[in-house]
Amino acid sequence: MIEIVEAVVLARQFNRELLGKLIVEGGQGNSRHKFAFVSGSAEEYAAILPGKVIGEASDHGSVIKVGLEADYVLLLGEGGERIRYHRDASTLPNKYQFWLAFEDGGYLTVSIQGWGATMLLPADQADAHNLMQPGRVSPLSAAFTRDYFESLYGQLAPEDKSSLKAFMITKPKVWGVGNGYLQDILFRAGMHPRRKVVSLSAAERDVLYEATVETLRTAVELGGRDTEFDLFDQPGGYVKLLDARSVGQPCVNCETPIQKESYMGGTVYFCPQCQKL
Ligand SMILES: [Zn+2]
Repeated sequence: MIEIVEAVVLARQFNRELLGKLIVEGGQGNSRHKFAFVSGSAEEYAAILPGKVIGEASDHGSVIKVGLEADYVLLLGEGGERIRYHRDASTLPNKYQFWLAFEDGGYLTVSIQGWGATMLLPADQADAHNLMQPGRVSPLSAAFTRDYFESLYGQLAPEDKSSLKAFMITKPKVWGVGNGYLQDILFRAGMHPRRKVVSLSAAERDVLYEATVETLRTAVELGGRDTEFDLFDQPGGYVKLLDARSVGQPCVNCETPIQKESYMGGTVYFCPQCQKL
């Protein structure tokens, strides 16, 4: 699943490797399914794409916006997309939900596991699209200050029952953070995923803010998680502190075995000693 860090890494690669490439053909791929979200018919995609040129790419939460000059954009992300560049046809995957062929013989494919989006939109409509979540603040930007983070708590009623997991990734949520990075943020903060948000002291809210920024910035520096892949099918260098591989392994701080639990439609991992409920 693409989260904000992977969106940053992929957008940078688009700008470095694909900017200016001329599209000669493209479309919705050879394997459509109902959770591969599109913005129009296969015929529309096939008609719009030829002749477009890859423009600037940017990250928006877990979404990657790619310019298709002169007047369209492609929105990818917020799901289980594998986005890959191919120097020639020899490495094309068997199934893909979106593809581009470039004048120089290269290809781009998007294969969607679970759900995901490949939206082709007129450029002047893209920023208002609900995938872009207009008005949100990236936790990797200078605007993600301690005061901004505090304003997220301000959206909760005093008797709010939300857990830390719900607060961080559902509502109000830190933009672009999902169940992947959540585990490491809460481990760094020493907080249990099921703990009530309103129980945090001001000092603990400081700690959670610092853990959020540190986790995401560190992961960007390392090129994203080692379980996610870049345009060239290479894994990132960020090894998560807690994930499926950690269960039963000793906590790096206290050596208590790491536990997992099903919670809110996903799995949470935690140290029962360092992250008390
Ligand atoms: Zn521990």
